[in-house]
Amino acid sequence: MPLQRKITLEESEIPTHWYNIMADMPNKPLPPLHPGTQQPVGPADLAPLFPMELIKQEVSTEKWVEIPDEVRNLYSIWRPTPMFRAYGLEKALGTQSKIYYKYEGVSPAGSHKPNTAVPQAYYNMKEGVKKISTETGAGQWGSALSFACKLFGIECEVFMVKVSYDGKPYRKIMMNTWGATVHASPSNLTNAGRSILAKDPNSPGSLGIAISEAVEVAATHDDTKYSLGSVLNHVLMHQTIIGLEALKQMEKAGDYPDIVVAPFGGGSNFAGIAFPFLQNKLTGGKNIRAIAVEPTSCPKLTRGVFRYDFGDTVGMTPLIPMYTLGHNFIPSPIHAGGLRYHGAGAIVSQLLKDGIIEADAINQTECFDAGLLFAGTEGIIPAPEATHAIAEVIRQAKQANEEGVSKTILFNLCGHGHFDLSAYEQYLNGKLVDYEVSQEDINISLAELNTPTI
Ligand SMILES: *Cc1c(COP(=O)(O)O)cnc(C)c1O
Repeated sequence: MPLQRKITLEESEIPTHWYNIMADMPNKPLPPLHPGTQQPVGPADLAPLFPMELIKQEVSTEKWVEIPDEVRNLYSIWRPTPMFRAYGLEKALGTQSKIYYKYEGVSPAGSHKPNTAVPQAYYNMKEGVKKISTETGAGQWGSALSFACKLFGIECEVFMVKVSYDGKPYRKIMMNTWGATVHASPSNLTNAGRSILAKDPNSPGSLGIAISEAVEVAATHDDTKYSLGSVLNHVLMHQTIIGLEALKQMEKAGDYPDIVVAPFGGGSNFAGIAFPFLQNKLTGGKNIRAIAVEPTSCPKLTRGVFRYDFGDTVGMTPLIPMYTLGHNFIPSPIHAGGLRYHGAGAIVSQLLKDGIIEADAINQTECFDAGLLFAGTEGIIPAPEATHAIAEVIRQAKQANEEGVSKTILFNLCGHGHFDLSAYEQYLNGKLVDYEVSQEDINISLAELNTPTI
């Protein structure tokens, strides 16, 4: 029987529209609230931070949003991305289930992030923006935005979480290569950064702190806007290019997933692969399970609360209705830096609340076990974030075996781990430890919340 290992598409098959799941949700997310007045935010409130086209997309309930030709053209540098049948992993697991993965590590920055960085930079360029400020955790978002800004001749200033800045110098050099300026966060360049440093000069930083710094820079400079690599509705929508391609590839493979799995930081790569399939669940009666996988050290979906919270630490962003561990929560320094975020996007939070998607949390040693097995059977060294999806796929395949059934499982291999080899080194030296957060620590963080409840 001929194998069909690699399922590819032609350039002409790059989707022409993004999918906006807001159109099909039974319950739309509650509106974001102004951080000061706690009233719903309007376009004018967001205008200092984002170009108007992205604000429109943020609140749009239109089902399909056209991808500009210029963006589609640039997408073709790395898209369509390949889908693989994981024959090697299946064999190693001795499973009757079929495992497929969509590989986003082929992008210039090595992850799914350029799928939204390029359109965001494009809309900023169209509206005459000279500079974009942003934050980055593990460095993937900063790299993607640096690349995209360079393409459109926009300056890029990145606040990089201190632990990553120190631990992942090559990510910083990558950003510099694409012309960006990179600061370790907390920095002494902003009020937000200075206030954190005053309390803790050795602060390791967090995504929430870095967001506060980047937002402050945009809010205080007329020619500068801010850009976020996850969480927001328009970001999730741009990422649906992944799942829209995957739908076509599944069709080519003559298959359809029972389960779709992706790692979860703020929700963008999960949304990207899952939402186009959920469309068939919400409108077409197809039963499919979508599982978001988070680290046990930062378990907002499985152990957080559903209420309004800030996207950043200082409280400058709008209040978002989300699953959260509290905006002051500082997760342990696990290697999946992209998953160290206290909250989840409004859309994914509402879908979880409504039981339309599921979530699971996994320890990092189980994830690296899965990553090593994957590297040894499929060849690709996965990003630490992506190993969370692989570990969940292994759990699901084992479960199916125990039940004596065969499942078709699709997961998002959202990035490669070429810049994360020090994490692999620690693992190989037996130095990697698990950080399951205690209920006490979660309670302390949540007790500090004085944001509106839902
Ligand atoms: C940023 C990132 C994540 C987490 O962010 P999401 O918005 O949840 O996708 C996961 N994996 C990789 C490789 C990333 O770069």
